Amino acid sequence: MEVSFSKEVQALRLGAGQTFHGEGILAITKGLLQAGVAYVGGYQGAPVSHLLDVMVQGRDYMQELGVHVEACSNEASAAAMLGASIHYPLRGAVTWKSIVGTNVAADALSNLSSPGVTGGVLIVVGEDYGEGASVIQERTHAYALKSSLCLLDPRPHLPTMVRMVEEGFNLSEASSMPCMMELRIRACHVRGSFDCKDNRAPAVSTRSLMEEPARFDYERLAHPPVTFGHEKRKSAERIPAAQRYIAEHGLNELMAGRREDLGIVVQGGLYNALIRALQQHGLADAFGQSDIPILVLNVTYPLVPDQIVQFAAGKRALLVVEEGQPEYIEQDIATLLRRRDLQTPLHGKDLLQMAGEYTTEVLTRGLAAFAARYLPEGAGQAGNDWLAANDARRRAVAELLGQPLPGRPPGFCIGCPERPVFSALKLAQQEVGKVHIAADIGCHAFGTFEPFSGGHSILGYGMSLASRAGVSPMMQRRAMMQRRVLSIMGDGGFWHNGLLTGVQSALFNGDDAVLLIFKNGYTSATGTQDIISTPDEDTKARAEDKQQSLAHKNHTIEDTLRGLGVKWMRTVHTYEVATMRATLTEAFTTSFEGLKVIIAEGECQLERQRRIKPWLAQLLKKGERVVRVKYGVDEDVCNGDHACIRLSGCPTLTLKDNPDPLKVDPVATVIDGCVGCGLCGANAHAATLCPSFYRAEVVQNPRWHERLLHGLQSALVRALRPA
Ligand code: SF4
Ligand code: SF4
Repeated sequence: MEVSFSKEVQALRLGAGQTFHGEGILAITKGLLQAGVAYVGGYQGAPVSHLLDVMVQGRDYMQELGVHVEACSNEASAAAMLGASIHYPLRGAVTWKSIVGTNVAADALSNLSSPGVTGGVLIVVGEDYGEGASVIQERTHAYALKSSLCLLDPRPHLPTMVRMVEEGFNLSEASSMPCMMELRIRACHVRGSFDCKDNRAPAVSTRSLMEEPARFDYERLAHPPVTFGHEKRKSAERIPAAQRYIAEHGLNELMAGRREDLGIVVQGGLYNALIRALQQHGLADAFGQSDIPILVLNVTYPLVPDQIVQFAAGKRALLVVEEGQPEYIEQDIATLLRRRDLQTPLHGKDLLQMAGEYTTEVLTRGLAAFAARYLPEGAGQAGNDWLAANDARRRAVAELLGQPLPGRPPGFCIGCPERPVFSALKLAQQEVGKVHIAADIGCHAFGTFEPFSGGHSILGYGMSLASRAGVSPMMQRRAMMQRRVLSIMGDGGFWHNGLLTGVQSALFNGDDAVLLIFKNGYTSATGTQDIISTPDEDTKARAEDKQQSLAHKNHTIEDTLRGLGVKWMRTVHTYEVATMRATLTEAFTTSFEGLKVIIAEGECQLERQRRIKPWLAQLLKKGERVVRVKYGVDEDVCNGDHACIRLSGCPTLTLKDNPDPLKVDPVATVIDGCVGCGLCGANAHAATLCPSFYRAEVVQNPRWHERLLHGLQSALVRALRPA
């Protein structure tokens, strides 16, 4: 991995008497070491990738402490790793992106929760929910309920988050329940500080090994008949033990307020947004002191019935602030109040929106409805004015634009090696007709946006080939098999799941399928982490031409596919648009009926730039010759039909006013930022576009003969210019 976390790794070494400054997710990482974690694993994904990235780069320090770090192949393998804590007094932590990662891990989580744990277990999940999320919108809470896992949702405040890490392990050990900690995007990136403690080297560790395996204990297996007893123990022993621990150690926080006749129960992670919304209404001061008492649930499952009832008793109304659907906490509280025959009116989803992120604006709207019902007239007017001003601003923008502010979908990086393949796919479909495209998770999912708009379904990470199994036998074929379904997968998805769920199944069933694998060398969409097919550091250092893509330096994917029995396989460099188009067409039309795999090889441009930029800077510093390629459009030749833009979608290929006063159509232009990937030229050639593109070489520190040649050329041009 090329991104360096050396500063963050240093921060992990801080001890008592020192102060940590930084992001929430790094504070959590430090908290794990302070809590004496013995092993850490996980699968990368926003917004928790940094936890594992920092641990992996800090391997030397982890070895000093005796902490084992494992970059797992997917979330299921990370969850299964937690099996170490079933028998042994080992504190274990894993991390992944939820809800998708939790879905992948679900089997192991059930089998872990059933026997319960001896050593504390903490699963740090990135709750990728709301604005900026990149996955389906569901709640991790459902898993806590179904598998009896404690669910922590700490207030986004670094000292609280770090405390909850340690308490999470304690809670897990006190109840035998594995704990999950959900961190929203904003909590991961909230900045702050906390007073450090010394890191605790675990008692049993890679430096202090166990002498014997645990004794055989059938009770610890997730297997009948003991699973029946496990189920009973969850409700009879473990959940009550967890509730006792939560109450006795003050894991949930009660924030007093002068309007004691009202109360708000909030998920810890939403506390900051709630305070901001209360401030808009003038119901909290600048220091966050709320007028309305707040019960902050740093643990959202299980709830502590006595705590809820005590908070609700005697109040005129209770508002539950709970993001997402269904409203598990509100339903839980409603049941609790009813069982205790407490008549406090309960509000939540009746005043706040059911789905979507609870931003400050959303909460301000919900609080306005609550204030209108329970506060004296005029209270909260400031919030209503603020909301009205926001609406007025949006209307003004829409009037100026003639439409609401357009959305800005994400797209491929400039020079991304995956973009040319979608250009080739567009061209191939012009020949064979439209095909059904089973898309997947990864950077290539940007191919579902304009100008490519390709993809009929996304069923999960590495699932594209499996997801076409029901479609391809039903698709009508013409004479030349043109209607074959195309599955697209990245190398990250291939190793995560695709090899087994897709390739193995297609081969076993003898399916007639086309699989396109992007081999860019990393799991790019999650932050360019290394995978088994990443070229190693030695290879990168020894590369004769560092500017080249290095994806071809590792053949693990090809060897694996060959070993499994794939007979039809082609490897094509992604920037060779014409060859890629021909290969796709061949795959759609060949008489070969088994699995056809196209490996689209081209190193992730983001990672390539990270690799070559310092190298180029070094060359320049030494005064050595450096050549950079740029593409451009000759504005006199551009005919203004913009076919190149519709075929490329590169953000640096854009429009500018036509310099010819007799023409009205804007011309294409390449702006600063072009990395010279070559797609412009390849597209112009493959699609026989107008000949307006030119390729230029920018030479820094040129040799003497290049300077001389340049001088002569310039003089000639000057001489030919009309006087
Ligand atoms: S991160 Fe890499 S693979 Fe992903 S869009 Fe950017 S260049 Fe392409
Ligand atoms: S060559 Fe074309 S596609 Fe490649 S970075 Fe430059 S403008 Fe973008």
